[in-house]
Amino acid sequence: MKIIDAHIHYTDNEYFEAIAKAAGGENSLSYLEREFKRLGIVMGVGMGNVPVSDEPGAPSLFNLDRTMEPDPYNYPDFTCFCVGINPRGLTKENAHKVLPQYEKILKTPRCVGLKAYVGYHQAYIYDEMYHPFFELAAAYRVPVVVHTGDTAMPGGKIKYAHPLSVDDAAAEFPDTVFVIAHYGNPWIIDASQAARKDNVFIDLSGMLAGNVRAESFFKEYSGYADHVRTWMKYLGNFDKFMYGTDWPLVNMEGYIEIMSEIVPPEHHEKFFYENALNVFGKMKQFI
Ligand SMILES: [Zn+2]
Repeated sequence: MKIIDAHIHYTDNEYFEAIAKAAGGENSLSYLEREFKRLGIVMGVGMGNVPVSDEPGAPSLFNLDRTMEPDPYNYPDFTCFCVGINPRGLTKENAHKVLPQYEKILKTPRCVGLKAYVGYHQAYIYDEMYHPFFELAAAYRVPVVVHTGDTAMPGGKIKYAHPLSVDDAAAEFPDTVFVIAHYGNPWIIDASQAARKDNVFIDLSGMLAGNVRAESFFKEYSGYADHVRTWMKYLGNFDKFMYGTDWPLVNMEGYIEIMSEIVPPEHHEKFFYENALNVFGKMKQFI
């Protein structure tokens, strides 16, 4: 089975090193490449989280490469990325100033989407300062991936990361595609409802952390597994869900096993592969 991991991170720092270790892995691109090959993962979508400059609202890229020139997006063959919208200092008044930088990045082949870190930065996704980015996403036919659910940082404010806020943005911008990252966990029911809109999709990344194993997971957390399965079925449309890990948060092999049991086998092809290709359409040229 071919797999696309619709949500990974790679940043060369101590914080990510510790998380990778806890998941039984290694925080390096060579490790990623080996694991991807071993497990049949043909592509990973990296989420940009390192600002290219200190300018308010400057775009964030998918590693520590802070250079915009000449070819900063020369990422490995097995990755594409979403440019991170950095709302630090961003306002609806100054958004137009940084927008050309985002557009420049979006024009590069491996940039397949935008990523918004609501919850980490205190603004709802429907805030007006994001509107120009939604228009840009629609123009370039790429999705806006929205962090939803719990935040990894103690300073995060989770009310901003509620999946219902994605519904507001999706209603106002019907031509923009939105991805509810992490299935809005723990607001899975609300995320299922929000994804009823044609332009809203869900990734199931980061719903577990650490060196997970299927056997112990289903023994200890069968209620959680049933809950996720139930609400996926409630939505009743398996075109809506994408596999992702939030690597380095969780070990890839265990997570694949667990998701294979949660998602009914007849939907595996869509869940693990096809849906991500549809949502991140620009990726097709590399696969
Ligand atoms: Zn993430």
